[in-house]
Parts: sequence; C-alpha cells; structure tokens
Amino acid sequence: MIYLDNCATTRVFDEALEVCNIYMKEKYFNPSGLYRLSKKTEEDIDSARKVIADVIHANPSEIYFAPSATMANNMLLLSILSKNDKKNIVTTYTEHSSVFKTIKSFKEKREIRYVKINEDGSLDLDDLKNKVDENTGLVSIMQVQNEIGVINNLEEIGKIVRDKSNAIFHVDGVQGFIKYPINVKKIGIDLYTISAHKVHGPKGIAGLFVDSKLKLQEFFHGGGQEKGYFPGTENVAGIMGFKKAVEIYTENRDEVVDRVKAFKKKLISELEKIEESSINSYGGSDFIVSASFKDIRSEVLIHYLENYDICVSSGSSCSKNNRSRVLEAIKLSDDFIDGTIRISFSYFTNEEEINEFLVKLKEGVETLRSMVRR
Ligand code: PLP
Repeated sequence: MIYLDNCATTRVFDEALEVCNIYMKEKYFNPSGLYRLSKKTEEDIDSARKVIADVIHANPSEIYFAPSATMANNMLLLSILSKNDKKNIVTTYTEHSSVFKTIKSFKEKREIRYVKINEDGSLDLDDLKNKVDENTGLVSIMQVQNEIGVINNLEEIGKIVRDKSNAIFHVDGVQGFIKYPINVKKIGIDLYTISAHKVHGPKGIAGLFVDSKLKLQEFFHGGGQEKGYFPGTENVAGIMGFKKAVEIYTENRDEVVDRVKAFKKKLISELEKIEESSINSYGGSDFIVSASFKDIRSEVLIHYLENYDICVSSGSSCSKNNRSRVLEAIKLSDDFIDGTIRISFSYFTNEEEINEFLVKLKEGVETLRSMVRR
C-alpha cells in the first residue's frame, strides 16, 4: 500500500506501540491510586508532559491531555466563550471544523470577525491589524492549514494580537507540532492544541498547552484529573505512546523535513506537467501538496487510485453545498474545486512510493478525462 493521507492520520511507530502495550499489560495502574505503583504511573505521565513541553518551550505543568484535538479545541473555546461578555472574536474561514464550527456557534451572541485570506492561502496581516482591537476577547488562528499546508506567520500574528489587544490567543497546532518549531512563550500564545495520531502516536490521545496565567472554566464534572479540564481516568497507555512518538519524531525531525521537502518539489514539478491542473500549495508545509484537475471529480480519482492500493484524500468536500471553505477562500475556480486531492507525507514516505503514485495519478487523470470528455 502507498499511504499518502498522513494529514488524516499516521501509522503508529512500532516503538510507541510497544510502550502502549507495556502500559496496558504490565503498568496498567490508575495514577490516582495511593500505592507506589500508581504514584510511579503519575510520574510517568508527568515525564510525558515534560517531553511535549520541551518541544514548544512551555512548562510541563502547562501541558494537559485530552481524548482528541477536536475535544481539546471545543473545550478551550467553549470555556472561554461561555463567559458572559460581549467581546468580539477574530478568526479565519480556513480553521479546522473543530475551531470554525465551535466559534460559529456563538454567532448570535458575539461579533465574529474573519480575517481576509490572500490567494495563496496566507493571512492578510493588514486586515488582521484592522480586525483586532481592544474589544477582542479571543483570537484563534492555526499554525499549519490542514488542506493546503499554509504555515501562518505566528510571530507576526502574535505581535499584532499583543500590540492591539488583551485577547486570549489560541493556536491549533495539530498539523505543525514538531514539524515546524514553535515557542509558545516567545510568541505569546495562550492555548495550543496537538494530536498524537498525526505524529505517529496512537489515536484517542491529544494534548493542550494552557498558559499558567489562565484559569479556564472547568467544563466537565468528574474526578478532577488534568486539573479538572479533562476529568476521567487518564489514558496512560496513549499518553506514554504519545511521549515515545514525540521523542522519536523530534530526534529525526530535520532529516524527515529534508526528505519530504524533496518529495514535494518533485511532485509539484511533475503535477505541473499535467495539463489543466492547479497546484494549491506551492509554499507552506513540506508535508502537504494540494492539487486540482479540471474535469475530474476527486472522489472518482481517489477510487481509481485505491484500485492500486494508493490512499490520498479529497481536497474538498464534493457536495455542491458543502464545498471546502479553504479552497473557496483562496478563490480556486469552480472548474477545479471538485477535482482537488490532497497528498500528505509522513516519516515513512519514500521515493519509490512517490514515483509509483505519479505514474498512477497521470494514468488516472488521463483515463478519467478521456471518459468524461468523450
Ligand atoms: N485541527 C487540525 C488542523 C486537524 O488537521 C485535525 C485533524 O485532522 C484536528 C484539529 C482534529 O484532530 P483530532 O483528530 O485529534 O480530533
């Protein structure tokens, strides 16, 4: 199988899986217990907080665990926005649904200001300057866009937010964590969300950074785990597998980025040769290539590739009324939007896979076009 849908999820590192196994079969103790084995488990969890904190330059006590980044984003935003004030919210149309929809659910109660997106998907920083003011209560802008890979300039964005407001600054870091360095303290980020299964850790475990100066409303009721933010018995196996994945990825990060950079370059130069194609991700993350093909429906192309055991994802939702907000924001023409696919690399992607994918993709585009253009 050639798996090129690594923005959706990644294969778990063998070493991380082994660690999960140990914590399920041998060290399965509830960290809340009073006996020594439980205490040790609690210490192990704290060691995972430290590993994650080091990557983003936070303090270990500011790292919390959650079941998914979706839940973490929801909890953080709901907790902030449920406060009974009238402050405006600044965000973008290109946020992940877990942010976009959560914020949108406050549209009757708060003014939501969407920052303009340039045609390459980057944020219009002048517009951001105009939209953030002393009445802004929350700014939520992601690190790396998950459909087209734009990397937002968080240093610049953070400076604008800090200069113009006292807003809480939330960053969804799911597609950027480890791959692109970040210093949450230097930038002035208050909240940052990450997810284990995007970096070769297990599913069902995510992390969040909450700056120690913030005290969020406790949203869920229970045993008070994770300082009350995410109560419930900790997913120790998941947390420890996550830790292992972060350690391995961090150690090899530079090498992986160099490798996928070359894949992206090659892929783009070959995709450009396909007539009536559009590349939607020239810059940005080296892990993501979004491309569109006129007169092709992405779901048909995806199934064509699937016949050869190749997995990629569609770059947009194909029902007419539910088009990708992101592709619309970059003003991709209608002719191309429905024929968009996203190819995303990982630690494990290799050159032969890219070569074989290119052969099958070219064949697929040609075959499908010859059918629809008859
Ligand atoms: N944020 C971004 C940018 C994502 O790409 C994703 C998943 O695709 C999420 C949040 C949600 O992550 P999870 O699968 O952990 O809920």
